[in-house]
Amino acid sequence: MKSYDVIIIGSGFGGAMAAKPLVDAGMKVLMLERGDWVKRSVEENWGSRGSIDLSPYYDKSSLLHVPVGGNKPTMGLYSCVGGPSAFYGGVSFRFREADFEKNEQIEGKDAQGWPIKYNDLESYYTQAEGILNISGETDTDPTEPRRSAPLPQRAPPLANISQKVKASAQKLGLHPFQLPLAINYEDTNRQTCLSCKTCDTFACAVSAKNDLATTVIPQLMAKGMELRHNMVVTRLNVVNRRIVSVECVSKTTKQQHIFKADKFILAAGSLGTPHILLSSGLQHYNAGGHVVGRYLMRHLNAIIFGVFPGVADKEGRFHKQLAILDYYFGHPKAPAFNKLGSLQQMSTPPGSVVENELKGVLGKMLSPAVKLLSGLLAIVEDQPQYNNALTINTAFSDEFGLPRVIINHSYSDRDNAAMKVLTEEGKKIMKGAGALTHYVHKIRTFSHAVGTVRMGLNENTSALNEHCRFRGIDNLYVTDGSVMPTSAALNPSLTIAANALRVGELITKLN
Ligand SMILES: Cc1cc2nc3c(=O)[nH]c(=O)nc-3n(C[C@H](O)[C@H](O)[C@H](O)COP(=O)(O)OP(=O)(O)OC[C@H]3O[C@@H](n4cnc5c(N)ncnc54)[C@H](O)[C@@H]3O)c2cc1C
Repeated sequence: MKSYDVIIIGSGFGGAMAAKPLVDAGMKVLMLERGDWVKRSVEENWGSRGSIDLSPYYDKSSLLHVPVGGNKPTMGLYSCVGGPSAFYGGVSFRFREADFEKNEQIEGKDAQGWPIKYNDLESYYTQAEGILNISGETDTDPTEPRRSAPLPQRAPPLANISQKVKASAQKLGLHPFQLPLAINYEDTNRQTCLSCKTCDTFACAVSAKNDLATTVIPQLMAKGMELRHNMVVTRLNVVNRRIVSVECVSKTTKQQHIFKADKFILAAGSLGTPHILLSSGLQHYNAGGHVVGRYLMRHLNAIIFGVFPGVADKEGRFHKQLAILDYYFGHPKAPAFNKLGSLQQMSTPPGSVVENELKGVLGKMLSPAVKLLSGLLAIVEDQPQYNNALTINTAFSDEFGLPRVIINHSYSDRDNAAMKVLTEEGKKIMKGAGALTHYVHKIRTFSHAVGTVRMGLNENTSALNEHCRFRGIDNLYVTDGSVMPTSAALNPSLTIAANALRVGELITKLN
């Protein structure tokens, strides 16, 4: 049997970015991914069934059961080469320096903060921004962390509606700035952004989004990385505290495969990684194994939609352009909070998606109204809570032999109170921008899920050490969003990418 230096499970941010330093160092790397390549064509990606939950890349073959906290009692997995990056909004924030520090208000009395600090990640943030060719604006946001290099691309011009939102926020004394985005605006060797209406939640038909399947993964394969897609990993086998092999089932042939390597990286996402760890029984080798699946965070998100007749509907453009972080570390009128969250413009879904989601007369009535809307997404940092957990029920298994996943998640009183303060400020901005009225839409998806296999310095309260090595197993690392001890109030992908680059580089230096 062929053996590899490193096997990586999952091709999302954690997997692809950890692979980069390994492949660059000439190591023999196999990546296993349960999803398929996303097919690209205008009809496939930008049609009414292109949005991720309606597309074939929303994999329902291993349904996750969500008795508490979800939109629906069961949900699927975002599964494709590059993970949900193919469908994501491209917002690529660095966490702020203080996000890595202890905060008793967020973490409770036993606050531990992160075992690594902002400065440990700074150079990897710079690398990740370069790899993903991030556009944006620096030097305006008062919370902006130290950076050692400018962003590689300038921000594109603002749409009319964005100019109105910016002017309104400035009138309130705030400092709006352009969102850091993984979208191609300047490289004319590739298709540049067309500012269409089908970006966030859609794959880019013209490959102008710098997602991992467009940029990083093909480059890694050209350098020799082997990718096996449609391969569902079911188990990691351990002998003498080392993983010796990984078992998987091909989605297409249903045949079992076993692969061997010297080292293993789990990057199946914050829901997929604890599922594999628990079904392999690896928590029993780890002093902090009881936290596997626990401290699940997903941000508390809501969209403040403003109704802008005669403005939003005249705009053919992508409205996801501005961020306002002035209330990130609190609000003068709500001194009880030392952290609140971020406000970001959000693109509205096309009418066809609303019609698909809300079946029948309601969908038909509401879909034409969507073009009158422009949205501000409020992201609140949610508290890591032990009881917010992913567990497994081995009495039931799916067609691949993976046990059933059960997810229970509730927001804390603090999470909800912080959201109230932030949405009130969002409404003021939308009103000042000329919105006739507003509507607040709560989001209950797990698209920003993080934290289920957290890293830390205390071996009894964290499953990973500061190098993201799984305690108790010598050759197993985790590099996806599950490593995060806290969620910050910013989109997670760039931090996952930076940390994965750090851990990948570290593995190249081991013997
Ligand atoms: C619609 C949408 C929009 C988003 N927009 C943004 C944004 O603008 N900015 C931002 O920062 N974040 C955004 N996110 C969140 C972001 O995509 C995630 O935080 C990020 O992708 C998580 O990276 P990861 O490496 O932890 O896992 P993932 O990217 O989820 O990768 C995990 C991979 O592992 C694979 N996998 C799972 N189980 C198995 C198994 N058993 N065997 C083999 N492979 C497996 C999955 O198929 C997947 O490809 C968005 C998410 C969604 C859904």
